[in-house]
Amino acid sequence: MRYISTRGSAPALDFENVTLTGLASDGGLYLPEAWPSFSPQEIAALAGLSYVETAVRVMMPFVGDALDEDALRELCTQAYGRFDHDAVTPLIQLDHQHWLLELFHGPTLAFKDVALQLLGLLFERFLSKRDTHITIVGATSGDTGSAAIDAVAGRAKVDIFMLHPEGRVSDVQRRQMTTVLAPNVHNIAIKGSFDDAQAMVKAMFADPDFSGRFQLSAVNSINWARLMAQVVYYFYAAVRLGAPERRIAFAVPTGNFGDVFAGYVAERMGLPVERLIVATNVNDILHRALSTGDYSAGQVVPTATPSMDIQVSSNFERLLFDLGGRDGTALADAMRGFETKRALQLSNAQREGAARLFSSARIDAEAMGHAMRWAHDRAGQVIDPHSAVGLAAARASDVVDVPVVTLATAHPAKFRDAVERATGVRPPLPSRIANLFEREERYDVLPATLADVTGYIAERATPRS
Ligand SMILES: *Cc1c(COP(=O)(O)O)cnc(C)c1O
Repeated sequence: MRYISTRGSAPALDFENVTLTGLASDGGLYLPEAWPSFSPQEIAALAGLSYVETAVRVMMPFVGDALDEDALRELCTQAYGRFDHDAVTPLIQLDHQHWLLELFHGPTLAFKDVALQLLGLLFERFLSKRDTHITIVGATSGDTGSAAIDAVAGRAKVDIFMLHPEGRVSDVQRRQMTTVLAPNVHNIAIKGSFDDAQAMVKAMFADPDFSGRFQLSAVNSINWARLMAQVVYYFYAAVRLGAPERRIAFAVPTGNFGDVFAGYVAERMGLPVERLIVATNVNDILHRALSTGDYSAGQVVPTATPSMDIQVSSNFERLLFDLGGRDGTALADAMRGFETKRALQLSNAQREGAARLFSSARIDAEAMGHAMRWAHDRAGQVIDPHSAVGLAAARASDVVDVPVVTLATAHPAKFRDAVERATGVRPPLPSRIANLFEREERYDVLPATLADVTGYIAERATPRS
């Protein structure tokens, strides 16, 4: 399998290189040259398979020659063996039509573990054959940071530097990062906002001397391997609910458009997806883009769903590319326009293509709280605010006669205060992090200036030999 950039001019790469690279050199995002396709018989044959076996079947066409099937199975067994539920991503029935797909049974209690546990192992495997060391640099508003740190802590040939805005992530989220004391883990609290941290990370990647010297690598959802790992649970859930004979709809709480794009990939591969319901909070750029064609960024408004407080959804570029006839030159122009004007108008082909599969909803605080209470009072389920945004959109949609699966993206204990405010129930910390508040923390606080942060990293990272 070869991967091409959405902006048309970066070299095509194989799976191994696309995993280690992240962003393409032309500023675009990598996608498979063609979608693999599964026949209804092949989908039917997934019935009854374990999560790991499903993962091997679904991911093998994307991996190509980079790993053989046994090697991929070994990595999946290791990655998903760390989940504390045998089904890895269990389905919970809420009423006659609505289901939750619980994606938060991994080590850090958010769905990002599903992809990052595997990505950490892929990095280790691919680097073991090479004479290189990589430096992961990222900015987090909470969940990505802890999932990435857990995935690479203690692994050879990788250092991770994770920036978070000081005082603006929850205590649980901060401690999940800062109590990991492995020597290759470096937590930096920035005296500034998430946007300040993110801007510094972008500046480091854009500086060829710095990024080349330390072999910078990204673990955010622009990394193709992350999306690939997320395609698996769409198949796993749909087959359990009757695919390929029965069509299934999914509601996805969305920030960077990564998780829901994985659903789009599953549909392209032949899974009978009736609808993908894109659920945003009041930061609704994706809802506006899908409902009116207006993809224009506003100011980020902080909400109880911080992992969705995003105005520019990186992975949307992948959808625009695929729906716009895969014209890299045209998309590169459009994205350059977006970068200067912070606004872009979808073409008719893009709008019509999206409307065939996607609908969307903007869920405010009141609707989110209502969904949390409905799940608790009517279905006996305590759900986190992000999942509640998805469920509110699922219940507001006009999908009839097919099961609607809401992706439950975080464990309610991760957002205990918001859950308690809405439902009166304070979810206990699960046993794997029950002593989180007794563990020793380690992190450094730095001013939000690029020179301080690059200086800090340069002192501690391993330069290219
Ligand atoms: C990251 C995250 C999201 C948003 O996922 P995207 O792939 O960025 O759309 C939603 N919920 C939770 C809990 C998250 O951590």
